[in-house]
Amino acid sequence: MYNEQFEKERFKESVKDSVKKLFRKTIDEASSLQVFQAVCYAVKGVIIDNWVETHKRFEEEDPKFVYYLSMEFLMGRALGNNLVNLRAYTEVRDALEELGIDINVVEDMERDAALGNGGLGRLAACFLDSLATLGYPAYGCGIRYHFGMFKQKIENGFQVEVPDYWLEHGNPFELKMVERAKIVKFGGYVRIESDASGRTRFIQEGYQSVRAVPYDMPIIGYGNGFVNTLRIWDAEPVTVFQLDSFDKGDYQKAVEQENLARNICEVLYPNDNHYAGKELRLKQQYFFISASVQTAIEKYKSKHSDIKKFYEKATFQLNDTHPTVAVAELMRILMDEEALSWEEAWEVTTKTCAYTNHTIMSEALEKWPIELFSRLLPRIYQIVEEINRRFILEIQMRYPNQANKVKNMAIIYDGQVNMAHLAIAASYSVNGVAKLHTEILKRQTLRDFYEMMPSKFNNKTNGITQRRFLLHGNYILADWVSEHIGKEWITDLKQIHKMALYADDEKAQQEFMNIKYKNKVRLAKFIKEHNHIEIDPRSIFDVQVKRLHEYKRQLLNILHVMYLYNQIKENPDMEFYPRTFIFGAKAAAGYQRAKLTIKLINAVADVINNDPSIHNKIKVVFIEDYRVSIAEWIFAAADVSEQISTASKEASGTGNMKFMLNGALTLGTMDGANIEIVEEVGEEHAFIFGLSSDEVIRYELEGGYQPMDIFNQDQDIRKVLMQLINGFYAPENPELFREIYDSLLNTNSSERADTYFILKDFHSYAKAQQRVMAAYMDEKKWAKSAILNMSCAGKFSSDRTIEEYVNDIWKLDKVVIKSK
Ligand SMILES: *Cc1c(COP(=O)(O)O)cnc(C)c1O
Repeated sequence: MYNEQFEKERFKESVKDSVKKLFRKTIDEASSLQVFQAVCYAVKGVIIDNWVETHKRFEEEDPKFVYYLSMEFLMGRALGNNLVNLRAYTEVRDALEELGIDINVVEDMERDAALGNGGLGRLAACFLDSLATLGYPAYGCGIRYHFGMFKQKIENGFQVEVPDYWLEHGNPFELKMVERAKIVKFGGYVRIESDASGRTRFIQEGYQSVRAVPYDMPIIGYGNGFVNTLRIWDAEPVTVFQLDSFDKGDYQKAVEQENLARNICEVLYPNDNHYAGKELRLKQQYFFISASVQTAIEKYKSKHSDIKKFYEKATFQLNDTHPTVAVAELMRILMDEEALSWEEAWEVTTKTCAYTNHTIMSEALEKWPIELFSRLLPRIYQIVEEINRRFILEIQMRYPNQANKVKNMAIIYDGQVNMAHLAIAASYSVNGVAKLHTEILKRQTLRDFYEMMPSKFNNKTNGITQRRFLLHGNYILADWVSEHIGKEWITDLKQIHKMALYADDEKAQQEFMNIKYKNKVRLAKFIKEHNHIEIDPRSIFDVQVKRLHEYKRQLLNILHVMYLYNQIKENPDMEFYPRTFIFGAKAAAGYQRAKLTIKLINAVADVINNDPSIHNKIKVVFIEDYRVSIAEWIFAAADVSEQISTASKEASGTGNMKFMLNGALTLGTMDGANIEIVEEVGEEHAFIFGLSSDEVIRYELEGGYQPMDIFNQDQDIRKVLMQLINGFYAPENPELFREIYDSLLNTNSSERADTYFILKDFHSYAKAQQRVMAAYMDEKKWAKSAILNMSCAGKFSSDRTIEEYVNDIWKLDKVVIKSK
């Protein structure tokens, strides 16, 4: 056993003791929520010991740290994951069982920590898991949003957003670190003066300030006693608000500061791949960045005197452009507080910061209006201006008389601060998140930057943690794998390739399909309870779960379902294998077309699920409130993984990897990491269709294509599209889906018709779907492909991704925790 504190009798006593001390109750009297809290409390005791030990080792070794700066950490639930990584899950499960408690019920009491939107936030969470498991010193730095990603309710088929007050019953594993609080300043003006030595000093005055208070969450490595820290910042007012002690001016200021503190950490912006440009968002960015950078500097100075070597002990990874103010904040501290010259500070900064690009879509690019940026962050803006001035000089030196180079690369241009350009100019590394994505960055989106500074650019294909998405989410399959090849895959996913030996083994094929069946039963039960829809676990589970976005093309999927339904109605005896189409997706609250697509999916589900004439050949299910905890079960139960983005638009995707690891076959375009998935498993074990990224990009340069030609020539597509506007799926309001119809065909609107090439790819998609059906009918062949998918998923561990970041970018050393 890994830790004697999880010895059954001892742990049972510990839980009983916790229930008593926390709630003055016996275990039989305690509610499920109280049992959950007591179990967390008992586990926390073990974690704290490891956490203390890890810090002691950091003190001794003084290693270099990566600060993973991210607006989002989509952590999901902690308890199950912590138990898995402590290698105590089965012991605790059995101990609880002896107390008459089902661990699933206990785990189900925990609210997801949904401090992120989707892939970008979940990537950050997987990276933390891998960093700790590999033993690399790291801090995740983020924001303690009081309201995370909203809860999604489906009412009458429409998405309704409900606030997610995830802290309602506390956050059991966090520690509030009051003594590490930092002050963050907003607004005011910069006074310039010369000090005694003739140095120019920049002093921010007339500002409002906020106290940033960190809450630390333990990030537990798998089976190595190593505990890193996710540090999320909360805001508190600087002054204790005392009515009687203020004169009129101070009173006003105190109220404003109190409001600022109240607002900053209130809510996560629910946009995925979309820039909204809200002032509060910029406040959030500077708030957590300033506090994090101050902390990193303070930590360095506690051991070192030469600030010019800061980069030897710290590196900042910017998760997209959201944390890019870190560049200017680091410059500010180095110059204004540490008295370095511009050149010295710039050298340190450009050896510290590294930037990950997550999208090429223009609507996601952060460009702050100068007026807003300089008003909120006056000193930071001065520094950005000077970075820009010097950068433009550099461009002009390199490219005399080429005005377009300045236009394409300037940090400040057309009244806006371009955060991507700032990040690239100030970083020693710029990476994309899959091979194709990095190639598109180099050849198209960031071409001029690549030409000017090619050595900065590199690729880091995303990954996922197999501890959460196989070991915890699909323990039946995980156990089966371990029985065959041992447990090394848990920390070395490449080992799972040994399972390929069993791909042709009929017994193994049967066992695999039985395990998949059990997981489908588990999901079917969940759907019965939550959606009141009966689905057949023997049908093909065809799953598309991800944020709702036009480029991800849930619309293509549901239009194809409409087409299939028409086919079956017209030709009841056609060959057809029963299929359950499962969707899960949140739409940004203000994204009308995405929300209408959710309504369309639910409207189609209503008609099809209630039509007895098709004999349950098709079921359509929209799973409410897609989030990490339910995602784990969904991947485990999936046969088909829908990864159907318009080629070139999905930078990587990580859902695709989670499905593959759980033995689902990819139905997808040659986009993002799908390309690398089929490179690993072989195209014959996937269903690839649609335009290539080059074709999409070529059409876009030509101004699009003519979807009306397809409408005119293809009567099946025409019938489906007419059903959007003839009330077939919305008899009470036949115009309801007109907007979707128009988006596909209307050429007199300002946007291009069918921007995402849905009709262009439809035929190819339908044919790929036919291949899916034919393949599933040969069960042995399907099982073989599924086993091979799982076996070839080794590359997609975030452990591999992190090793690449460490070797190529961060240059960290491992710290080993000696076991007691
Ligand atoms: C993995 C994951 C995502 C990202 O999915 P993609 O298909 O890559 O967009 C989004 N949300 C949750 C809850 C996830 O677990």
